[in-house]
Amino acid sequence: MSLAKTYPIHCPQCGHPQNVDLYDSINVAQEPALRTALLENRLNRVQCEACEANFRVDKPVLYHDADRNILIHWMPDNACSREDILDEFDSAMEELRAALPDDMEPPRVRLVFDRVELVELMFMIEAGMEERVVEYIKYTIHMQNMSRLPPATKQLLLNVQDSTAEELLFAVRNVETSELEEVLRYPRDSYRKVRDLYRQNPDELMELFPGPYISARAALMEEEAGEEIPNDDAE
Ligand SMILES: [Zn+2]
Repeated sequence: MSLAKTYPIHCPQCGHPQNVDLYDSINVAQEPALRTALLENRLNRVQCEACEANFRVDKPVLYHDADRNILIHWMPDNACSREDILDEFDSAMEELRAALPDDMEPPRVRLVFDRVELVELMFMIEAGMEERVVEYIKYTIHMQNMSRLPPATKQLLLNVQDSTAEELLFAVRNVETSELEEVLRYPRDSYRKVRDLYRQNPDELMELFPGPYISARAALMEEEAGEEIPNDDAE
């Protein structure tokens, strides 16, 4: 079921206080129009009743695709840090697992921090692609092009819709400006090879991307931060 609630907000343009209806969760199997709204960046978008400014209110939204038994939590990291979100998320997941009846297959649960990640993941899942394999491919592309595609500022996004039978298309997004700067092509055959290896032996990629947030950038930045721990005893 999709759920909307009334929230008191202030307009970011003029500060006018008002009550608006915003979605807490969307069930796209039951209400495909909400999937379209999300794609078109109309979900949780409101118009100020005083100055008519149009803006999106970023708040947590639960995306539920019952046909594919997946839950994606969109948790914008504008109000609190990603670490806090992840901690809170882990305990919520434990509660969910404990509450599920034993004979019910638990849904796949994913976490994303912004709308572009949610839209990318949505298309990947609908196309039946393995998100860990896609992120692994991004990981190798970053590794091979560290100076041109530093993970701190460049994000690779799989463009499922424009990919072909032969090639996967990745857009390079500048994290600071949100602009898409170039398109990279990757042979789909190579994707299939990695996918087959992953299906035979998932351990390595499960370890690299344990979830619920599966991201090549995050994994690379974590590795980088680990390497840069200063040694106080030096000198
Ligand atoms: Zn306003």
